[in-house]
Amino acid sequence: MTRALEAKVAILGKQAVGKTSLVTRYVHQTFADRTPSTIGASFVTTKIELDGWECRLQLWDSAGQERFRAMTQMYYRGANAVILVYDITSEDSFRDVDTWVQELKKNVDMEQTVLFLVGNKLDLAPGKRKVEYTRARDYIKKITGDETALLEISCRDDDGVIDVFYELAGRLVRRQ
Ligand code: GDP
Ligand code: MG
Repeated sequence: MTRALEAKVAILGKQAVGKTSLVTRYVHQTFADRTPSTIGASFVTTKIELDGWECRLQLWDSAGQERFRAMTQMYYRGANAVILVYDITSEDSFRDVDTWVQELKKNVDMEQTVLFLVGNKLDLAPGKRKVEYTRARDYIKKITGDETALLEISCRDDDGVIDVFYELAGRLVRRQ
């Protein structure tokens, strides 16, 4: 018997870290060097089958609203999971993750929300890495108690992208 779950997933992070690329790579199996920064509410629904569960994930990409914090509330309000994305070549983008976490702490029930951290642009790591893996891992462990809630990926090389959504779905299933 297949059981079903539905989850709202908010994808947050500084502009240009690769949030739209993550969704596009996963849902459409494509990558673009230039992605449009659309303004307006947008989500896509994707289905993952895992451990006898059919997970319908509603992926909310905060397209273009990163600069307008007031508008981002609608992305994470009622979210069952949040994917926090940073760019491993940008110190700024990693600091921004903590700004998001502090905002989430004020506005959502952290106990009820799955948090997953994603370091994107792993293809640029040789020579350009600014954020060490261990530093990000220690950070997410401090926040969630789960040091495995981090993946470094490359949307460009399609490295680790699928794993992000399976890891997330797995965490949502285990909470049922
Ligand atoms: P968003 O503003 O967070 O939605 O970021 P985008 O998805 O629009 O990506 C911003 C820029 O980073 C675009 O030029 C992408 O092509 C580029 N980009 C996204 N993912 C990767 C990646 O894995 N590696 C590299 N080298 N560039 C990437
Ligand atoms: Mg975008």
